[in-house]
Amino acid sequence: MHLQDFYLARRRIAPMIRRTPLVAAPDLSARVGAEVRCKLETLQQTGSFKVRGAANALLQLSPEERKTGVLAFSTGNHGRAISWVGHQLGIPARICLSRRVPAYRVEAMRKLGGIVVQEGESQDEALEVADRLQREEGLPLVSPFDDERVIAGQGTIGLELAEDWPELEAVLIPLSGGGLTSGIALVLKALQPSLRVIGVSLEVSAPMHASLQAGQPVEIEEVDSLGDALLGGIGLDNRYTFAVCRDLVDEVVLVSEEDLARGMAYAFHEHRLVVEGAGIAGLSALLSGKYDPRGQPTAVLLSGSNVDTAALARIALAHPADSFA
Ligand SMILES: *Cc1c(COP(=O)(O)O)cnc(C)c1O
Repeated sequence: MHLQDFYLARRRIAPMIRRTPLVAAPDLSARVGAEVRCKLETLQQTGSFKVRGAANALLQLSPEERKTGVLAFSTGNHGRAISWVGHQLGIPARICLSRRVPAYRVEAMRKLGGIVVQEGESQDEALEVADRLQREEGLPLVSPFDDERVIAGQGTIGLELAEDWPELEAVLIPLSGGGLTSGIALVLKALQPSLRVIGVSLEVSAPMHASLQAGQPVEIEEVDSLGDALLGGIGLDNRYTFAVCRDLVDEVVLVSEEDLARGMAYAFHEHRLVVEGAGIAGLSALLSGKYDPRGQPTAVLLSGSNVDTAALARIALAHPADSFA
């Protein structure tokens, strides 16, 4: 992929997405001894950056595909993004979910305009349904991360960062399947090769990290996490994101469940921001001291805000403002 792909993506998706703000974080900067700013994809349409990739993919469908529609397989932010973009463009968006997905998640996708296909008792069975629809009805399946159109969409965040903060020297990005990290890394390393790209993953489950260490995509066991949007493998048949992360990510930092909870509470008390567990991973890496910015101007991507408010309230009460003094 070339820089031009990202500029084209930006022009394509501009009418649908928000150019999100990059805000100062003076207290965090003082704590870590480096200037830190936060990129607020929490304010993005549908509550996460996933809408950038979804828009860039759906806007490139053929006229026939636009009529028959697309498929997605996701319980979370990608499903929300595809639902919303499909609805905006009048493209039927079928989201394949198992019957075990909680009702509030199903409702969220319906509300955004998605057509929920709920079949099967597990994620694997739901994936089989998606595969069948893909085979039998020829509907295109949009991957949440391993698709060049999706990577180009997510990379538009890199263009905004480079323009809004020319002095930037490092960026912390929540890392799961790697579409987000790949897009941003491809842009920022092309514009400034010395810039450091740090992926932040879950201590309890870090499939990209395990794959990078093994030198090839590997599968690891699924567990529950506060950062549920970072769960899921990278695919043993990974086509793009493994190679890009291998070549361009300088370091992967792992954060604990407690680091995520403290980060969410801190963002709420200090910045009055609602950030979900996955979205706070980068900030948590700084706050916990697991990543030392070494004085470099550092941007932290806050990637999503879709958290249950009762859960956030519990976390904020368990980590009151004075516990950060
Ligand atoms: C999907 C997601 C990520 C990780 O993105 P990948 O492209 O899978 O690495 C991070 N944060 C949030 C909120 C997400 O929804």
